Amino acid sequence: MKRKLEGQVALITGASSGIGAGVAKAFALEGASVVINYSSSPDKADKILKEIQSAGGTAITVKADVSSEQEVVDMYKEIFRLWGTVDILVNNAGLQKDAKFHEMSLDEWNRVIGINLTGQFLCAREAIKEFLRRGVVPEKSKAAGKIICMSSVHEVIPWAGHANYASSKGGVMMLMKSIAQEYAPMKIRVNSIGPGAIRTPINHAAWQTPESYQQLLKLIPQKRIGEADDIGGAAVWLASDDSDYVNGITLFVDGGMLLYPGFEDNG
Ligand code: NAD
Repeated sequence: MKRKLEGQVALITGASSGIGAGVAKAFALEGASVVINYSSSPDKADKILKEIQSAGGTAITVKADVSSEQEVVDMYKEIFRLWGTVDILVNNAGLQKDAKFHEMSLDEWNRVIGINLTGQFLCAREAIKEFLRRGVVPEKSKAAGKIICMSSVHEVIPWAGHANYASSKGGVMMLMKSIAQEYAPMKIRVNSIGPGAIRTPINHAAWQTPESYQQLLKLIPQKRIGEADDIGGAAVWLASDDSDYVNGITLFVDGGMLLYPGFEDNG
């Protein structure tokens, strides 16, 4: 049986750890040629590259800070030089710089918006240019290109102490929907994944100790933290033709976090 992403080039930003690494491995298993983007840790990116290669997959690593217009443009140039095109973008790179709102510095605000939101804009813009240039290649996919934005449950759940992060993800939601609407007629699909709590370096404080883990579980009806594989499976589906009629949605992968578990016993 043909694998779901056979012969397609997939760029995954921030793929040297956590969710991005999980998506990169899941895509490679489905036959995609994977670009592992990283910004600062070549060793970690190489480790993911080797894991993919030893499982029989195809991948390269490319360094770029997604918040830099020039570095993003250069990253795409390098991908086109090596592999000719790009079929799938997973806009995954992101970070938190937490602070009480009245103490938040402009730098903490700008850095989170610059990477989590402007970074997604820059990477999506270059991907869309290439999708429009190339159009549909029917042997590869029904779509001219697919973009998956890594959002969060915090595109809808407010988050005290994290106003910069929640604002960036609220922005990602409208960025995703606006470009989905703009390019659907050109057979380009744009969707988001909204993870709940996934066990990665970004939120280690929330699962590190038994006490913090028990506290976290109060927010998760399924009573387990999510793993990068949970997101990998959802991302494969959104990137493949199995979801060809799905456009402009956020697929929440959160163990039921958005079910307001605080109301389980009537609040
Ligand atoms: P992570 O820290 O393991 O991964 C984030 C990656 O982004 C890292 O590899 C980091 O090096 C990279 N990155 C940071 N700044 C970058 C830049 N300027 N250019 C390129 N890469 C950069 O954390 P994660 O949990 O895997 O996060 C991945 C995405 O998932 C983020 O967008 C995050 O907001 C989102 N998310 C995570 C959770 C969770 O519970 N882990 C929940 C909701 C959303």
